[in-house]
Amino acid sequence: MGMPPKRFPFSILARVLHIYTEEKPFYIRGGSQVISQSLADRIIDLGGEIKYNCAIEHIIIEDKKAVAVVDEFGNEYHAKTIISNISPIHTYFKLLQENEIPAEAREYLKGYTVGISALTCFIGLDCPPETIGFTDSFNLNYDSLDANKDFMNAYNLNATVDPIIATNYTVDDPTVSPEGTSIITAGVLKYSAPWEELSPEQYNETKYRLANQIIDRLEVKFPGFRSHIEEIEVATPLTHMRYLGHPGGSVYGFEQDLKSSVFFFPQDEFIKGLTFTSGWVNTCGFGPNYIYGDRIAKRVIKETE
Ligand SMILES: Cc1cc2nc3c(=O)[nH]c(=O)nc-3n(C[C@H](O)[C@H](O)[C@H](O)COP(=O)(O)OP(=O)(O)OC[C@H]3O[C@@H](n4cnc5c(N)ncnc54)[C@H](O)[C@@H]3O)c2cc1C
Repeated sequence: MGMPPKRFPFSILARVLHIYTEEKPFYIRGGSQVISQSLADRIIDLGGEIKYNCAIEHIIIEDKKAVAVVDEFGNEYHAKTIISNISPIHTYFKLLQENEIPAEAREYLKGYTVGISALTCFIGLDCPPETIGFTDSFNLNYDSLDANKDFMNAYNLNATVDPIIATNYTVDDPTVSPEGTSIITAGVLKYSAPWEELSPEQYNETKYRLANQIIDRLEVKFPGFRSHIEEIEVATPLTHMRYLGHPGGSVYGFEQDLKSSVFFFPQDEFIKGLTFTSGWVNTCGFGPNYIYGDRIAKRVIKETE
């Protein structure tokens, strides 16, 4: 959840523990992309349209109300309500003109901290999971019992003590990769700040040095791991910034501490006709985001009927 235990609100911890122990986590056969694809198919079936590779660059405000968006190719789309699924930070400060940014939004968002990002190794192995002793799909690897102390390394440019989240998708879904192979993601949570200071050369060296540290640590737990790597791609906090556009490359929105959770979600709105979904304004993660998106959609339909 991207928080050290001592700063993690009990209300979220209790819910997560309940889900993991009672309801159990689930994998989607084919990977999480399958959910996005199903939603996309349904939107198209119902006569909707989806535009890919087409970022919104500007929100048009008329009489203090959001009335339209403009994409990177200059196309304008008008709507009764505009729903932003990106951060309120980028929505207000990148998509509006300076003189249109509500002063209250500036003040309101000051209280919230951009959350953590990740360094993730996406790995293809030339063997089935059991060859290297990978028998459980989801593994949280802690090298010490002091999770609060280990978490502090998220601000540093090494991966020597961070808890490693390693998932082998093939354990639960052998069809996810060709027979006799397997797919693993192994990652640590990292803040983007020190990465933003690196030169291109330093960035390249740092990215592969940290990936190597993760592989070295997994090699101890799963002997033979390194020799079976056929493909590996490494994503850093800067990769997440580049491809998702989120401030800090955040993977869980704002920090999930008490001040931006449960009773204090940053859900206040400051411009008529502009509302929000996404993990930035609610508990982050696939499940909560789908449920919250559905809630906002129903609310907007009711309001605009
Ligand atoms: C490696 C990894 C593993 C994870 N594992 C899990 C897991 O097992 N379970 C779980 O629940 N969660 C997991 N998460 C977290 C989960 O991915 C996020 O909580 C979730 O994707 C957030 O959804 P979202 O809709 O808020 O944002 P996103 O999924 O980031 O969607 C935002 C979208 O907006 C697009 N965008 C940005 N700017 C613009 C613009 N100007 N115009 C138009 N579009 C724009 C972006 O390209 C992006 O597609 C994981 C995250 C990572 C990185």
